[in-house]
Amino acid sequence: MNAHVPPPTLQSAYDLSPEGATPVMAQFIAAKQEQPDALVFFRMGDFFELFFDDAEVAAKALGLALTKRGKHRDQDIPMAGVPVHAMDGYLARLIRQGFKVAICEQLESPEAAKKRGSKAIVSRGVVRVVTPGTLTEDSLLDARGANRLAAVSVRKGQAAVAVVELSSGAVEVVGCAPQDLAATLAAFRPSEVLVPDRLFSDPDLAAALNASGGVVQSMPQAQADPAAGERRIAALYGVKALDAFGAFEPAEISALGLAAAYLETTQAGRRLALSPPRRAEDAGRLAIDPATRAGLEIDRAQDGGREGSLLNQIDRTVTAGGARALTERLARPLTDPTAIAGRLDVIDWWLERRPLRRDVRDALSGSSDMARAVTRLCLSRGGPRDLAAVRSALAVAERLAGQVAGPGPLDPPPPAGLSTLLAALGPTPDTGALLAELYEGLVEEPPHLARDGGLVRPGFRPELDAQRTLRDDSRKVVVEIEQRAQTDAGVPFKVRHNAVLGYFLETTAKHAEPLLAARREDGEANPFIHRQTLASQVRFTTVELSELDAKISQAGQRCLAIESEMFEAWRARVEALAGPLRAVAEALAELDVATALAQWAEETNAVRPEVDDSLIFVVEAGRHPVVEAAVTREGLPYTPNDCRLDGSGADCARLALVTGPNMAGKSTFLRQNALLVVLAQAGCFVPAARLRLGMIDRLFSRIGAGDDLARGRSTFMMEMVETAAILTQATERSFVILDEIGRGTATWDGLAIAWATAEALHETNRARTLFATHYHELAALEDRLDHVCNLSMRAREWNGELVFLHEAHPGAADRSYGVQVARLAGVPPKVVARAKSVLERLETEKSAPARLEDLPLFALAETTAAYAPAKPSAVETALADIDPDDLTPREALEALYRLKGLET
Ligand code: ADP
Repeated sequence: MNAHVPPPTLQSAYDLSPEGATPVMAQFIAAKQEQPDALVFFRMGDFFELFFDDAEVAAKALGLALTKRGKHRDQDIPMAGVPVHAMDGYLARLIRQGFKVAICEQLESPEAAKKRGSKAIVSRGVVRVVTPGTLTEDSLLDARGANRLAAVSVRKGQAAVAVVELSSGAVEVVGCAPQDLAATLAAFRPSEVLVPDRLFSDPDLAAALNASGGVVQSMPQAQADPAAGERRIAALYGVKALDAFGAFEPAEISALGLAAAYLETTQAGRRLALSPPRRAEDAGRLAIDPATRAGLEIDRAQDGGREGSLLNQIDRTVTAGGARALTERLARPLTDPTAIAGRLDVIDWWLERRPLRRDVRDALSGSSDMARAVTRLCLSRGGPRDLAAVRSALAVAERLAGQVAGPGPLDPPPPAGLSTLLAALGPTPDTGALLAELYEGLVEEPPHLARDGGLVRPGFRPELDAQRTLRDDSRKVVVEIEQRAQTDAGVPFKVRHNAVLGYFLETTAKHAEPLLAARREDGEANPFIHRQTLASQVRFTTVELSELDAKISQAGQRCLAIESEMFEAWRARVEALAGPLRAVAEALAELDVATALAQWAEETNAVRPEVDDSLIFVVEAGRHPVVEAAVTREGLPYTPNDCRLDGSGADCARLALVTGPNMAGKSTFLRQNALLVVLAQAGCFVPAARLRLGMIDRLFSRIGAGDDLARGRSTFMMEMVETAAILTQATERSFVILDEIGRGTATWDGLAIAWATAEALHETNRARTLFATHYHELAALEDRLDHVCNLSMRAREWNGELVFLHEAHPGAADRSYGVQVARLAGVPPKVVARAKSVLERLETEKSAPARLEDLPLFALAETTAAYAPAKPSAVETALADIDPDDLTPREALEALYRLKGLET
């Protein structure tokens, strides 16, 4: 997704003044003026048409044919269109490319328009603007990922992020320091970010916005005004003042107000049934900046996909809601040891109850995505299947509440977290009544659209049953009429139906001829009335058939009307119960997460971490879940490793320097320990024999940043930007992993930077730190600084081969084996040999790399020669001179002897 560019602004190349426009064009122009920066999808019958620049842009973006539709102000009107039934696919593609799309619908039926006069056109209006952050359709959404709209504001030196998840109705607002905006935004992974004009051009903020991964929309500055924001939010929730929701900072109100303003326009004023804004204290969350998040591959791998991420590795959830809740948990780990223990208690409970856990997971896998169904129903975008989704989820929740709680009180009592969850699952009188009614009234497998009918169970509404009988019995009569007509007229008739003629009798032209002649002769006396002649078919009706037709269509319409009424009544009930229904959906999702984490813990022998307020970090036999899985898939063993960083003890190290050859497992070791922190504070079990962790406030990593050449930053520059952020922000409570800093510059430069950084982290930041380096010189720090220790990843040379043991041991690595690794990687033997001799020389002389030119040059020349293209041989030269077309057979034979002679 090209998410980092703001959507294209559309400057019209056409004169769109409404004077002289046809009535339809006038409607289009009005819609376009209302939504100038969106592509307007203009409903015309079975198509959504685009006009003018929109048509040109969409034709290009979607590969549509560009046609013309009349003229406006002497210019041709370009037009492109997509069929209504295929709209979702086209919408998805446009949204992915960063466009906004305004849906301009027909607001009445053509029949209703006709009633206003024969010239009247169908009225149309924008019913919604589709943007990345406001999608609700299952077909446009990732079922296992949340889709969020974020709004950012900064007031009086305070920043705030408001986050709306339309498809669950959740609204959150987080206040933070401006420098923490990037970390706060990234934790939500928004699809779309709103910023007031003034901030849009702020270079400092640009990095945070870009790193968020969302499409950035600039909003009028006036909409960020807190006073206006307060009014808007109050209107959005239908309350008088915001006090009911708690106290908010001006920046928070401003951010919420921006989101409210955007929802007002994009949802065309529809009621949204959002949950009250929840104020999330970022202080209670482990701060992870975007680079660290990406580098550790927490919820996405480096390539942007889910495969290869920590989330993907541990995800055993069986529902879409559960998958989203787990993503959220990993994205925003906690910092309060008590809250963390609360989550762990619940997993512990499930871990001990294997058969019950299996039953619960079986039941959950059959439930539906109620949260999203409720939102669609609230927005009047839902259909009967969404009602069925509500029914199935409510039923599963009710059953599970009973099943888990059992008949009597649980002994021992369940952990608090589980009790709350079980209470939320059980039905309230209202949700119970809704469930009962949906069972009784809604068919087992309802149709997609309410307007097609067939969604109410027979026997539920007597009036509907009566109309259905009338309609269906009459259909039986139609069959009788067909048979009777065949006998009366003596021709093979078929009764057919279409929207224009209703029911009619059809026969071939040959059979119709005598009937038409008879009608001419007998006039009214002949019952077969001609309606239509096609190329090979002729269509008739009879008085009886047309009367019946009227009756059937009336009964059919009456059925549809009753069913729509029923649907609307149920929809309204769901809307009224949106809050409790969402609470049930959330409880189901939480239950899924807890049982899934217990499942994963069991499968991988993960243990319960001990998290407290100390500054300790002790890992016994830790494992990297993703690397372990990859290594195991290849049939290789994974080597668990210990790690001990104890910031408090007098002679304990809080900074470990990790050395060892490339490929020895340094990166894996660093990441593994950082991931253990994430997992533990997210309230998950951890892949280790034991983890004791003094709570971490911020997690930092500097690992293999790619070039950011688009923004003019080299790898080295990126590395330094990230290092600077760590040195200015890390505290005693932070956890830092640094992988090979100082690599992208000259050796001594790099060593100097690495040295100074390690010192600063140790002396000033005092963060628990793992520092991987290929500068063996840094090992000397162990003796110079109190809390530094050396660790090395072991490798051994065996029979001339390098064997990686992947074991972390105390002490520095003796050598880096770079040359051996080069050989393993397939560097040609001559280059490897040459590197060996250079290395030996450097090591014996202990000289600076600057003196390399003293090395004997002939060896290098020899090496290069081996790779220069070889001179052509005498045979090749002679062969090149021969033109086979010029030779007689005899000359050819002679040439062959000559060549043979040259060879020897
Ligand atoms: P380095 O950072 O030292 O170059 P990596 O951490 O990238 O090394 O590890 C290189 C490869 O070694 C990994 O891709 C993995 O296949 C393997 N490896 C790393 N750690 C272990 C381990 N503890 N047990 C088994 N294999 C490992």
